[in-house]
Amino acid sequence: MDIAFIGLGNMGNPMARNLLRAGHALKVFDLAAAAVDALTELGARPAKSPAETARDAELVITMLPSSPHVRAVYTNPDGVLASVGRGVLLIDCSTIDPHTAHDLTDQAAARGNEMLDAPVSGGTGGAQAGTLTFMVGGAVHAFAQAKPILAAMGKNIVHCGGPGTGQAAKICNNMLLAISMIGTAEAMSLGANLGIDPKLLAGIINTSSGRCWSSDTYNPYPGIIESAPASRGYTGGFGADLMLKDLGLAVDAARTAGQTVALGALAQQLYQMMSSRGDGGKDFSGIINLIANRKIS
Ligand code: NAD
Repeated sequence: MDIAFIGLGNMGNPMARNLLRAGHALKVFDLAAAAVDALTELGARPAKSPAETARDAELVITMLPSSPHVRAVYTNPDGVLASVGRGVLLIDCSTIDPHTAHDLTDQAAARGNEMLDAPVSGGTGGAQAGTLTFMVGGAVHAFAQAKPILAAMGKNIVHCGGPGTGQAAKICNNMLLAISMIGTAEAMSLGANLGIDPKLLAGIINTSSGRCWSSDTYNPYPGIIESAPASRGYTGGFGADLMLKDLGLAVDAARTAGQTVALGALAQQLYQMMSSRGDGGKDFSGIINLIANRKIS
C-alpha cells in the first residue's frame, strides 16, 4: 500500500521501518529533518507538511507525542484532513486522551474518512521487533481493513470497541501499572528496612497474593530480576515522564467521566515528584528511590 507516515521518533521510526520491510511504499513527514532523512535513506519519500504527506496516500498513520500535536497534524490548514482523499483510512497510534480521539474521528467522518485510535504498548523494543500490542478503537470494518497493516508492526492487535476505546484501554492499563509499581516499591522498601532479604521477600510475594507484573517481571528492587531496569541503574525502560503523561490522561479522563481515581491521582503526584527531582528520564520503577528517600543500589 502507499502509506503516509507522520511522526518518526523513538516509536515511529522503527514502526515505519517495519512497514518498508513488509513491502509497503511510504511517504513520511516529521518536524525534525533528521528523522525524515533516516527514513528516506531506506527508500521512503519525504514530504514537507502533513497535507503533502497524506495527498494521494491510500492510508495515513500518525505517531506523535500528545493530543495537541495530533490535533494540529490532522486539522491545521496544512494538515491531513485538508488533502486526504475521501474514504482513505486514518490510524492514529499516539497515546492521547479519548475525548480528542473521539472528536477527531467525528471531524474525519464529516469529510468522508474513517479513523481509528490505535495506541500501542511494548515500548521501543517492541516497535523494533515488530511485536507491539495495538489497542484499537473504531468501526469494526475499519479495524478489519487496518489489521493486516498493523500486523507488520505488531503481534497482538485487539479491537476494543468504538472510537476512543483503544485510548481508554491503554490509559486504564498504565494507570494500574503505575499503582501496582508504587505498591510493589513500598513493600520491597519496607521489607528491606525491616531486615528481610529483598530476594527472599520477592520470592514470597511472587508465590503469594501480592504477586503482580511489577513484582515478578519488573521488580523495582535492584538485583531481583537481572533483565529489569532496576538491575541496570533504572536505564533503558519506560521513562517516568512517559508514565506521568499517561497518568495525566487517566486522571483527566476520570474527571470527564465523573469517576474517582484516588490512587491514580496519587500515583500522578508521586511521578510528578520523581520528575521534579530530575529523574523523569529514568525508568518508572525508579520510584522506589523516592519512596525509600534514598538511592537503593
Ligand atoms: P518521540 O518524541 O520520540 O517522537 C515523536 C515525533 O513526533 C518526533 O520525531 C517529533 O519531531 C514528531 N512531531 C511532533 N510534532 C509534530 C508535528 N506537528 N508534525 C510532525 N511531526 C511532529 O515520541 P515516541 O516515544 O515515539 O512516542 C510517540 C507516542 O507513542 C507518544 O504518544 C507516546 O506516549 C507513545 N508511546 C511511547 C512509548 C515509548 O516507549 N516511547 C511506548 C508506548 C507508547
